[in-house]
Amino acid sequence: MTDSADLPVRVRPEIAALPSYKQGKQAGGDAFKLSSNENPFDSLPGVVEAVQGAAALNRYPDASAARLRERLAARYDVTPDDVHIGAGSVSILHQLALAVGGPGTEMIYAWRSFEAYPGLAAVSGTTAVEIPLGEGARHDLAAIAAAVTDRTRMIIVCSPNNPTGPIVTQEEFDDLLARVPADVLVVLDEAYAEFVTDAAAVDGRRVLAQRGLGNVVVLRTFSKAYGLAGLRVGYAIGHRRILDAARATAIPLAVTAQAEQAALASLDAEPELLDRVRAISARRDRLVAGLREAGWDVPDAQGNFVWLATRAETLDAAAAFEEAGLIVRPFAGDGIRISVGEHESVDKVLRVAASVVRTLPEGHAGRGLA
Ligand SMILES: *Cc1c(COP(=O)(O)O)cnc(C)c1O
Repeated sequence: MTDSADLPVRVRPEIAALPSYKQGKQAGGDAFKLSSNENPFDSLPGVVEAVQGAAALNRYPDASAARLRERLAARYDVTPDDVHIGAGSVSILHQLALAVGGPGTEMIYAWRSFEAYPGLAAVSGTTAVEIPLGEGARHDLAAIAAAVTDRTRMIIVCSPNNPTGPIVTQEEFDDLLARVPADVLVVLDEAYAEFVTDAAAVDGRRVLAQRGLGNVVVLRTFSKAYGLAGLRVGYAIGHRRILDAARATAIPLAVTAQAEQAALASLDAEPELLDRVRAISARRDRLVAGLREAGWDVPDAQGNFVWLATRAETLDAAAAFEEAGLIVRPFAGDGIRISVGEHESVDKVLRVAASVVRTLPEGHAGRGLA
């Protein structure tokens, strides 16, 4: 929070009140950085070469990222106009919020969910309507549908939910769409879709194939499963007129030629990359099983991270992990998110977590029945 008395210029008060962005801590020495849901594998040599071979640095990139759009359009069986590329899918979320929101309108999302969502509301001047997660730290879609008013312009569904882990099922998502007016934008944020192993999960590709392009926009990213977080490239699939509105609010030329080239090379190398994704999902399942055995009540984890409901003990627990060389992501008063990292980090997380759980008081929300 910034005190407006310190501000050398007049800043919108709701912006001045926002906390400045806090990144996951950088790991020093031999600590494992498990705070930003990054892919722990090194980039594939072919992808690195593709980036180096991309356009000269003195030239602007292709503003529309036409080659990547064409490639993704073929995959989703849509036209390139129904694909939009952004410098990370977070930037597309901002564009959509600016395009449909604004003073006097509302956006609905589950909470706790992705930390970027409240900022979308604030920056676009939209009122945030946060619907508490239900049983099992899952989206409560009935409550989300019930919160729709004539001011609602945008609903964000995050599956799997960052930071708690559970998916939304296809059935739940279809029910939501049946209850939401057709002129309300529903964004399905599937940043972790590739890690999902539960067949009941909603799948944006299936939603679009079955319903056609209407009020649903599917967001995916190359940051997590494809390991390109550092290059910033994500995409939206949806109705071209909705994406035109997003394009109209976008900062031009934000997607670099290097990012586009890396995304194309990653699609070429997909079988190899998806093998890694499967390894991470298996590692995640091992982590969840071990944590539950140690006495944690861990929600279903379908992304590349796990959630510990440490509540009032969050900062103490995070400090214990950090002292042991594990950088985790604490959400004060609520819980800790731990990314599925290097193979060697798993046993270490389990060891430290087994001692941390014993520091929680009897009957604590983070403790399971074990
Ligand atoms: C990581 C993440 C994104 C996308 O991040 P970008 O790096 O901007 O593509 C989007 N939504 C959620 C829920 C995420 O966790």
